[in-house]
Amino acid sequence: MNCTFISLEDEVFTQFMNRIMQKIEHIGIAVNSLEKSIPLFEQLLGTLCYKTECVTSENVNTAFFKTGESKIELIEGIVEGSIIHQFIAKKGEGIHHIAFLTENLEEEIKRLKSLGFEFIQEIPKKGADNKLICFLKPKSTNGILVELCQEISNQG
Ligand code: ZN
Repeated sequence: MNCTFISLEDEVFTQFMNRIMQKIEHIGIAVNSLEKSIPLFEQLLGTLCYKTECVTSENVNTAFFKTGESKIELIEGIVEGSIIHQFIAKKGEGIHHIAFLTENLEEEIKRLKSLGFEFIQEIPKKGADNKLICFLKPKSTNGILVELCQEISNQG
């Protein structure tokens, strides 16, 4: 089907953008207790939690659910004063971040930096679910904590 509103240039642009931000990989939700929230989200989504993982670098436990092409990541702080405890103390439980999958995280950091976006850390680190991750500063993204992630390849 033809769409007269999209020019060829726009299509090329869209393909280019799709290559960069491939999809919403997951939405991170801060919770007080995984033990309480896992059954809740299993009921809500009609699917079982397929993985829990402790991310020691962030002092958090995580639990993952598949929802079509994206995932839900529940995050619980495991050390008093962790980033998740701080978040919940300030805003309560709820959406913590949105994570976009990228093909090349370092290129993406360069691209966004050149456009004026600011990063919490510019060197990607290992996150949950076999990913390299980094976060943008919410003050540069309309108050949304944005995570960029890239699959860690098994070839090293
Ligand atoms: Zn995340």
